[in-house]
Amino acid sequence: MRKKVCKTCKKEKPFSEFRRSNHTVDKRTKSCSACIDKKKGLNPEEDRIFKQQAAMLQALESSAGNVSKACKAIKISRQTHYDWLDKYDNYKKGVEEITEALIDFGETALLKNMKKGDTTAIIFFLKTKGKNRGYVERVETEDVSDPWTLLAKRSKERINGGND
Ligand SMILES: [Zn+2]
Repeated sequence: MRKKVCKTCKKEKPFSEFRRSNHTVDKRTKSCSACIDKKKGLNPEEDRIFKQQAAMLQALESSAGNVSKACKAIKISRQTHYDWLDKYDNYKKGVEEITEALIDFGETALLKNMKKGDTTAIIFFLKTKGKNRGYVERVETEDVSDPWTLLAKRSKERINGGND
């Protein structure tokens, strides 16, 4: 009889004692059925969280990554989502995968519009990816209550800017 060692209880057991959820023997199942059942029984709270997380990942996907919307859909707080990100690596990985997929999707759509000559798409692209070529929208936050100081500052900037 073929046997293997259970990862959890470290006992050598026959293959028939390693089953998957559909009761078939699977070589990849690392813990014996008894240990798996015990683990599930010991932590129903965690099991519930994992199910919620799976639902949240689906909600994120269908809401195009909108956290508030997804949280509302599965009835958890935003804080819970952020706690999960900190605590559960698998959850974090799942969220990252969805985000990456959405970015890929967005880039494909953007590229399509740019090729069609869509000015808004082109401006957006240049402002985000073309920053190093000078396509930057500057936000002016200077105080203009003292125009002389500002003028002096601008002149100095112009002089310094000419040096490079
Ligand atoms: Zn075991």
